[in-house]
Amino acid sequence: MARKLAAGNWKMNGTRGALQELSALAQAHPDPSVDILICPPATLIHPAAALMADSSVQIGGQDCHAQVSGAHTGDISAEMLADAGASSVILGHSERREDHGESSDAVNAKIRAAHAAGLVAIVCVGESLSQRDAANTLDIIGGQLATSLPDACTAANTVIAYEPIWAIGTGKVPTTEQIDEVHDFIRTHMIRRFGEAEGGAMPLLYGGSVKPDNAAEIFATDNVDGALVGGASLKAADFSPIIKALE
Ligand code: PGA
Repeated sequence: MARKLAAGNWKMNGTRGALQELSALAQAHPDPSVDILICPPATLIHPAAALMADSSVQIGGQDCHAQVSGAHTGDISAEMLADAGASSVILGHSERREDHGESSDAVNAKIRAAHAAGLVAIVCVGESLSQRDAANTLDIIGGQLATSLPDACTAANTVIAYEPIWAIGTGKVPTTEQIDEVHDFIRTHMIRRFGEAEGGAMPLLYGGSVKPDNAAEIFATDNVDGALVGGASLKAADFSPIIKALE
């Protein structure tokens, strides 16, 4: 994966009609200088991957189970995502950590499953507003990284997304100083844990209310290698200017 990445997280949005947004995106960016990834709902992964097969848009999942197969009703394995055409999977998103009680240990097992299936793991970390107000942001993120990441993470198989929970879907964005502080902390943590070659090259995304009008400022911050975008990735007309701001 190239160092810069514009990733879209469609969350629980989109039926087959939404595939036309992918076609529009691919048409608008036939030869991008950054990687473009869309993570649609699981039901759309296979048709989306088939539609985007010869395009610049990669397709990913939003979660996977830690096991390859078995009696886990409603779950999807990393191998199944890869088989459906996904190249990556978002893991440890705060909505999964909150809605499904996912611990960092559980995220660690999922990342190992994703790597075993040949998927790039996009691992989300971030603090709540009360944690930030209590000046615990770096402790929380340091703990999430330490526990969530298995030792086999490399710059090729792992992307970190810093997503302050209070910025997701709220229209509130941290200051560039706040983003800079956390991304610098994550970069230092990655280099200490995985070494300069891997930790220094692992892409670090910012996520949380990234929009066409704030993307350029966020991307100008040190150690920001792209974005994980929710709401503004649903329409090609919104996501396209964000991609352009990264190029
Ligand atoms: P948002 O979501 O861009 O809608 O704030 C980001 C995310 O949750 O990945």
